[in-house]
Amino acid sequence: MAIREVRELGDEILTKRSKEVKEMTPRVKELIDDMIDTMYEANGVGLAAVQVGVLKRIVVMDVTGEDLVVMINPKIVETSGEQTGQEGCLSVPGKAGQVTRPNYAKVLYLDRDMKPAELEGTELLARCICHECDHLDGKMYVDLVEGDLVDVHYDEEEEEE
Ligand code: ZN
Repeated sequence: MAIREVRELGDEILTKRSKEVKEMTPRVKELIDDMIDTMYEANGVGLAAVQVGVLKRIVVMDVTGEDLVVMINPKIVETSGEQTGQEGCLSVPGKAGQVTRPNYAKVLYLDRDMKPAELEGTELLARCICHECDHLDGKMYVDLVEGDLVDVHYDEEEEEE
């Protein structure tokens, strides 16, 4: 396992669409392990593979610090409600902005064993699901920000995604 370099806003790869994962391989397993290490090292709550420079549809998330989720080929199938709150991204260090997202999201995905799984979340988890799935389509939260990006000091984990 290793910490990988997190690509930052302005890096063209972050605007590209990631490709479906067809099979689990030792390389994909290693990528997932590295993504988990990289996310925790940066005190983030979520990380998409594209953020470490790999165009595969893989997301790791842990919004509570105790609920690690690995999602392969995630697909949001249902959303409802609305929430507006501060959002950040490991690819946009030191910044945050107000973003409106669904307050509920349901996502279908494959787990690390390539078995179908689903997850529903509200509030921060729903926000994180939407934010990370956007990365897989080359979308960054900065394009959704209402008003200006603000400087933040990441003392609180909750502000990082
Ligand atoms: Zn992000």
